[in-house]
Amino acid sequence: MTENPFFETWITPFGLPPFDRIRPEHFPPAFDRGIAEQSAEIAAITGSAVAPTFANTIEALERSGRLLDRVSRVFFNLDASNTNETLEAIARDYAPKLAQHRMRIALDEDLFARIAELHAGRATLGLAGDQLRLLERQHLRLVRSGALLRPEQKVRTAAIAERLAALHTLFGQNVLHDERDWQLVLDEADLDGLPDFARVAAGQAAKERGIEGRWVVTLARSAAEPFLTFSSRRDLRRTLWQAWTARGAHDGSRDNRPLIREIVTLRAEQARLLGYDNFAAYRLDDSMAKTAAAVERLLLQVWEPAKDKAGEEKARLEAVARAEGLNEPIEPWDWRYYAEGVRQAEYDLDEAVVKPYFVLDNMVQAAFDTARRLFGVTFTERDDLPVYHPDVRIWEVRDSAGEHVGMFLHDNFARPGKRSGAWSSRYRDQETLDGAVTPIVVNNNNFTRGEPTLLSFDDAETLFHEFGHGLHGLLSRVRYRSQSGTAVRQDFVEFPSQIFEHWMAAPETLRRYACHYQSGEPIPEHLLRRLLAARTFNQGFATVEYTGSALLDLELHREPSPETLDIAEFEREWLDRIGMPQEIGLRHRPAHFQHLFAGGGYAAGYYAYLWAEVLEADGFAAFTEAGNVFDPELAARLKAIYSAGDTRDPMDLYREFRGREPTIDALLDQRGLKVLRP
Ligand SMILES: [Zn+2]
Repeated sequence: MTENPFFETWITPFGLPPFDRIRPEHFPPAFDRGIAEQSAEIAAITGSAVAPTFANTIEALERSGRLLDRVSRVFFNLDASNTNETLEAIARDYAPKLAQHRMRIALDEDLFARIAELHAGRATLGLAGDQLRLLERQHLRLVRSGALLRPEQKVRTAAIAERLAALHTLFGQNVLHDERDWQLVLDEADLDGLPDFARVAAGQAAKERGIEGRWVVTLARSAAEPFLTFSSRRDLRRTLWQAWTARGAHDGSRDNRPLIREIVTLRAEQARLLGYDNFAAYRLDDSMAKTAAAVERLLLQVWEPAKDKAGEEKARLEAVARAEGLNEPIEPWDWRYYAEGVRQAEYDLDEAVVKPYFVLDNMVQAAFDTARRLFGVTFTERDDLPVYHPDVRIWEVRDSAGEHVGMFLHDNFARPGKRSGAWSSRYRDQETLDGAVTPIVVNNNNFTRGEPTLLSFDDAETLFHEFGHGLHGLLSRVRYRSQSGTAVRQDFVEFPSQIFEHWMAAPETLRRYACHYQSGEPIPEHLLRRLLAARTFNQGFATVEYTGSALLDLELHREPSPETLDIAEFEREWLDRIGMPQEIGLRHRPAHFQHLFAGGGYAAGYYAYLWAEVLEADGFAAFTEAGNVFDPELAARLKAIYSAGDTRDPMDLYREFRGREPTIDALLDQRGLKVLRP
């Protein structure tokens, strides 16, 4: 029998997982042993005859589950970015088992009794600020998991959590399946309107699928969006659009629609058990926003102005469409195409002219350089370390004194077996409880590979966005793992990522890093000016597309009778009620809304991007007001937010950085929306 790497001490450099030795069959026994080990550790805490102390209870809990954490990190990262049927089967098998294990700990009466005793006497324990917050949040976490419920309610709560874990896994797998399964195979004559980069990418995608001499467009956002933007073939745009928006909604064994009903029903039941009217109320009680009413207020503050702006945009689109001979109404599969026409006509900006200036490798360097100038960290590539896929590149991160900070993995290309979208995750969190543990962070994108890979302006923003999350993990300076890096409130976690996007669009960055892939010439000033002038262009559309999804999320999780939910009808009625423009599609339709249903993290929480944007737009304005986007004093104060993790209240952190609370003005301004005052 071969050795299981999870049962050894890793001697790999910087604690990287030994990817070259990890096989799928290592996971099940490692999960089993990890669960057993943590259960024994919890039993040791609760079985202690000694009265509870912060050290023997809270810190002991922090130390528990090391093996399980290690195997879970590797498994769930690989399952997201490089999965296969074996891993998918293990995920289906272990998601409910892991949920059951977590609920067993959360509902352990002896453990809660010890924590509750500490919590009651917390003012007299002489705890440091981070410790007091850790104790308060651990206590709250258990209460919110059901620790105060009656025994039969606890049994039901645990069963709900277990079933939800299984449903989330299935939901994500069904979307991936639909994305993997579908392809639009094109002949030369079908490529009308597509610029070189899109043709090259479609040729590459065909080659990867063993289709010679033809072209393939997939349902990855990075392939679908360019096709919808450039293809002058309205029939093909429509075909692609219909497939794209139907992901997860096909009759048969992989239909996500019945899963949605079950998920929403279980969440509502869980919330009621815990004393809340609905899931949104439960979820938001532990957020910066606090209530559904506060979330709704923010969303509606942008909704009407965004629709007004989209209406103006539509009129301009129609003018271009009429000139091109389209006499029918603009449909959702037309919007991007004619918007590109308007962009070219009004701003003289052709995406095919802009893209050659956005070479992936250069933009990665730009992100690294921004991190160096703001926060003093440097990135050095290591090509001598094992990776899980040849696409992955690894960088060692050091601070200005040359000290090791952590490792950064970059996995940038779309491929079968990789979840769509972009995300940041960790293989290991920073902490110092028993000596310094440095973070290992990974960023995933789904760019279409090219020679070289060229990005759109939006792609480059996404790259910076995920890198902002990455820095939140890398710059973490906390004592406890539970408070590390991105372990903050859901509606605060997008602040460090979204504010970082601003440095991509800073003229300093573009002049230096937006260089033509052939000539190496920096982007011409006139093009740069037009690019920045066009930033509020189409923001009515983007805001409607996003806010529609966010409103739907909130409404779905306030639904009074989810057990009879017909999601198609619900969607239709709700969009009608809020006056969703029919020519704009939702950013995410329910059957492939992975934020909501492939996990619980963003359920009743999709608004968080806009919530964080209020902070981020207001926060970046501090740099523009200072007249220097690299202002060292502001950068140092911003770094304090990236380093604090969850050791402090997020609004306190923000106030210390900004000197005051945020206002919504900068957000409306950056989206080009007219201010609406109540
Ligand atoms: Zn994000």
